[in-house]
Amino acid sequence: MPVTSSPVPPILPPATLGMLGGGQLGRFFVSAAHELGYKVWVLDPDAHSPAGLIADRHLVAAFDDLAALDEMSAACAAVTTEFENVPAATLDYLAKFVPVHPSAAAVAVCQNRVAEKTFLAEHGLPHGPFAVIRSEDDVREAPVDLFPAVLKIARFGYDGKGQARVANREEALHAFHGFNGEVCVLEKMLTLDCEVSVVLARDESGSVQTFDPAENRHRNGILDVTIAPASIGSVLAERAREAARRIAEELGYVGTLGVEFFVCDGELYVNEMAPRPHNSGHHTIDACVTSQYEQQVRAVCGLPLGEPRAHSTAVMVNLLGELWYEGGDGDGAYREPDWSVLHAVPNLRLHLYAKHHARPGRKMGHFTVVADDVAKALGVALAARSAIGIRGDAQ
Ligand code: ADP
Ligand code: MG
Repeated sequence: MPVTSSPVPPILPPATLGMLGGGQLGRFFVSAAHELGYKVWVLDPDAHSPAGLIADRHLVAAFDDLAALDEMSAACAAVTTEFENVPAATLDYLAKFVPVHPSAAAVAVCQNRVAEKTFLAEHGLPHGPFAVIRSEDDVREAPVDLFPAVLKIARFGYDGKGQARVANREEALHAFHGFNGEVCVLEKMLTLDCEVSVVLARDESGSVQTFDPAENRHRNGILDVTIAPASIGSVLAERAREAARRIAEELGYVGTLGVEFFVCDGELYVNEMAPRPHNSGHHTIDACVTSQYEQQVRAVCGLPLGEPRAHSTAVMVNLLGELWYEGGDGDGAYREPDWSVLHAVPNLRLHLYAKHHARPGRKMGHFTVVADDVAKALGVALAARSAIGIRGDAQ
């Protein structure tokens, strides 16, 4: 008789799942898991973390606290993450006792820009020109046609933090000193037609479901508006899905993965990967048959992946901390925004993360407008964005 490996039985409710990280992505995962009948324990050092507040148990501890990790692995049937900077050693440690998805190896690639770019280059995936910067000499020897460029620290950057735009070698040296000589990548500054992202889910048997590519507009390096679907044409959209799928396969990825792309002269370049649900996938809660968070639950538990089809077009707008200050630029008096303005808009759904203090640039919530075409959704969303007091154009 041929030997067939028997499939691992799915993890079913009322099992408990573990979530490393307590931010908004974790909070939506907790909601999706609760909806399906699971319990969730969250590990996060912040006693007020958005996911911790609604978890069945919140372990308030550091990510390398072995006693907390032991408690989590004893209670949980599987563990996942919402935060790419969870130490790979934490994932490796937990994996000795409990299934962990995505794996430490996959997260390690996504949490370090040098490993990430090397991975893309080795697998023939399209990416922009770059150089690895470990020393001043590396800056001096970087190809001249990389400039103007962006210098980015290899680890722990997010929302445009840990990045400097540099016109020339001199400025790059200055910025490298400013980052205290940390390992960096120097990327050629590309002229972008637009930015898009693909969120997908992959399960242990290798099945993949991709959401439609979404278009992302940033302000000050932070995602401002996501438009779904992106208006990039079906050929480019298919290539973006295919590249994201290949990345997931080459990483042996299990869970929800976000892949960011630049579109430049009609060509796609992978910008970066996020080993977790992605901000540009928030709209899937309100506009798709299955959300990116439910897909994460399904992938981690070994359930069949859900249908990612969008039943509406959607536009998502991030609500950043400066909105909590009179005048909307972070200088005025602290007060709660007037939510009645948003409650009154038809087809708008507001999501607030219950963070205890708003800082300028901090992601505090978002809203999604659904409609039967993108132009309508965008018109309503941008009007609501300005009515609630968000300043500046969505670029
Ligand atoms: P993170 O999202 O981790 O802060 P990114 O590398 O995605 O870092 O950079 C944030 C944003 O800055 C991008 O979405 C893009 O708008 C802009 N950006 C980053 N790198 C480049 C580049 N090489 N060329 C043009 N724009 C860039
Ligand atoms: Mg990014």
